[in-house]
Amino acid sequence: MIGSVLIANRGEIALRLVRGARECGIHAIAVYSEADRLAPHVLEADEAYCIGPAPSSESYLRGEAIVALAKDVGAEAIHPGYGFLAERADFARMVEDAGLVFVGPAPETIAAMGDKTEARRRMKEAGVPIVPGLTEAVADPEAAEEAAADIGFPVLLKASAGGGGKGMRVVSEPGELRRAFEAASREALAAFGDGSVYLERYLARPRHVEIQVLGDAHGNVVHLAERECSIQRRHQKLVEEAPSPVLTDEERARMGETAVRAAQAVDYRGAGTIEFLYQEGECFFLEMNTRIQVEHPVTELVTGIDLVEWQFRVASGQPLDFGQDDIRLVGHSIECRITSEDHLGGFLPSTGAITHLGVPTGPGVRWDGGVLQGTEVTLHYDPLLAKLIVHAATREAAIARMARALDELVVSGVETCAPFHRRVMDEADFRRGDISIRYLDEHPELLEENEPESELIAAAVAAALLEDDHRRHRAPRIGTSRAEPVSAWRRAGMPGGAS
Ligand code: ADP
Repeated sequence: MIGSVLIANRGEIALRLVRGARECGIHAIAVYSEADRLAPHVLEADEAYCIGPAPSSESYLRGEAIVALAKDVGAEAIHPGYGFLAERADFARMVEDAGLVFVGPAPETIAAMGDKTEARRRMKEAGVPIVPGLTEAVADPEAAEEAAADIGFPVLLKASAGGGGKGMRVVSEPGELRRAFEAASREALAAFGDGSVYLERYLARPRHVEIQVLGDAHGNVVHLAERECSIQRRHQKLVEEAPSPVLTDEERARMGETAVRAAQAVDYRGAGTIEFLYQEGECFFLEMNTRIQVEHPVTELVTGIDLVEWQFRVASGQPLDFGQDDIRLVGHSIECRITSEDHLGGFLPSTGAITHLGVPTGPGVRWDGGVLQGTEVTLHYDPLLAKLIVHAATREAAIARMARALDELVVSGVETCAPFHRRVMDEADFRRGDISIRYLDEHPELLEENEPESELIAAAVAAALLEDDHRRHRAPRIGTSRAEPVSAWRRAGMPGGAS
């Protein structure tokens, strides 16, 4: 096993990696920006070094400086986490050229999968079904018009170098194409330094279903089943679960085999994810993420396999010590991304100091957090504060457990999207598993300010009853969600409210 690793990241994933490293007996070296001096990943690491001021471009994205630091402090490896430098082939190469181990796949694999058109070409060659559309970028709006006529409207314009939902435009009719082409191209150039775009068919009501794969340096690749990540806003995931509520065992085996074939086609090493759109029993390759994913814990909980441990083991040259037939799914797991965003009004970012943090615990609850009480939430970084993950015997029990855990969660000082998740757990289509990437379009009420009056009255009555119950039993009143109905009431501008 490698002896030490520098973790080139921050937030919840950096802490997850510090924990994983320490459990493997690996010396964990953290880096941090001036804004993250007291962040949990810094406090928990064996060593930590400041790499610059708050803006990512002056700290977490300084690949060369990070590699130089790793050499200086004697780190044997660099783990990039997700985001920042994780899918930069040039960074992976720089790490290897410096004689260090990059915890991830080969730079060539990252490069091939980072370009969406090249990835589509490689997958098509490997016999993996792709979303119908082009495998080359289009040069100009005229070429886009021609291609769109072949594919059929609606089409989706996508940035070849895309990620994070940027440079993507849905086009419903020919007249909109030229403007959309220019806008997507401009956005892609600004975000990725590469303005090339291509087109694919825009599927009407697909699910986002992705398969976790794990490969070693000895040619073994297995899949760890799927995650359903259909609940999204602006093409960004909000709720993930494993297994998917709709996949049959046969479909799972078929998609899993396809994912393994896709990974083998690019000599995949380490933990990676093949994303698919799934519609009416058919699945189409969307993209491959050549890194650990935000939502990896749901897979860990249903398979019992520690993905971060295996990233370190594979990077150390160890072969997988289990085969496909050894992988069994147990129970159901759900993850809610707790972001510093106010879902009322469209997930607007919220900033400030976290004045109180009450983290849920108890059976089957996991909190992968990157903040503490006192942490200052700024606009410098991604709004993901933490992930709340539950595991239970069935999907129904997992939903009940998530609802209970969300009720226990208290975050004061910044708004979070936790109340949105709590409403999702009660929503009938979600509970039935009838979800797609259009879920939020189909449920605008989840983002509306005013709760129905009956709900408010019920909340007020419940709060009054609880108060009474507390008085009678002299139960201690520490900040719990019991304050929630009251704040929801206030927000709605009811009597006694601040507004
Ligand atoms: P990015 O790399 O920018 O995250 P992806 O290709 O992974 O982009 O797609 C992100 C999300 O966008 C998907 O989960 C899905 O919701 C939506 N999407 C992407 N391609 C299509 C498509 N062809 N039809 C419908 N929705 C799509």
